[in-house]
Amino acid sequence: MRIAVLSDIHASRPALEAVLADVDRVRPDGIWAAGDLVGYYPWPNEVLEILRSRGVLAIRGNHDRAALTGDLSLFNDRAAEALRWTRVHLLPAGVGFLKGLPDRRREAVLGVDIAMYHGSPRHDDEYVYPWNAHEELLDLARAEVVLLGHTHLPMALTSGSRLLANPGSVGQPRDGDPRASWGLLDVERRSFEVRRVPYDLGAVAAEVRRAGLPEELADRLAAGV
Ligand code: ZN
Repeated sequence: MRIAVLSDIHASRPALEAVLADVDRVRPDGIWAAGDLVGYYPWPNEVLEILRSRGVLAIRGNHDRAALTGDLSLFNDRAAEALRWTRVHLLPAGVGFLKGLPDRRREAVLGVDIAMYHGSPRHDDEYVYPWNAHEELLDLARAEVVLLGHTHLPMALTSGSRLLANPGSVGQPRDGDPRASWGLLDVERRSFEVRRVPYDLGAVAAEVRRAGLPEELADRLAAGV
């Protein structure tokens, strides 16, 4: 049983479509998404419709919650500006889809407990980086597999037969590699393969400019930061 794990798509349709083309080559048994479906890039409605139509098992991230509530107090200026844009452009179907999502998810897959959080089991907004990830998070979650997002940095840490993993970001990678990032979880083997997919950064930059979003959101993509 294999699950495609996507995170931090951030309303980038070109990145999501490139990743899904790769997912379709691999043909996993399901697709999960660890939050931050929207925010930053200008295709929130299209991205949510793709996720809905493909039956993706998703949770909300901090950007998704802010897109619903309008509470931008914890965001930097660029992120807040993009969230204001998102709130203006998000259609009722997208709002309804986000409202229907949980903030965390837990499923037993083939008897294996898998828990998914945007931040961490301690707090939905906590950043668990590769350098501060610890197996105690597996204890806290009481799960054999814990899937995280939020940092935009891919990570896979094993502890015995348990696994703590982050697929990195589809829409805005921050590990210096501009290619979209996703992860393939093999539930029986407890393995996690991070896969990278090139996509059309120029198309994103052009649409960011056309939409009047902060230019820097386009510029950072080429550097992967
Ligand atoms: Zn994010």
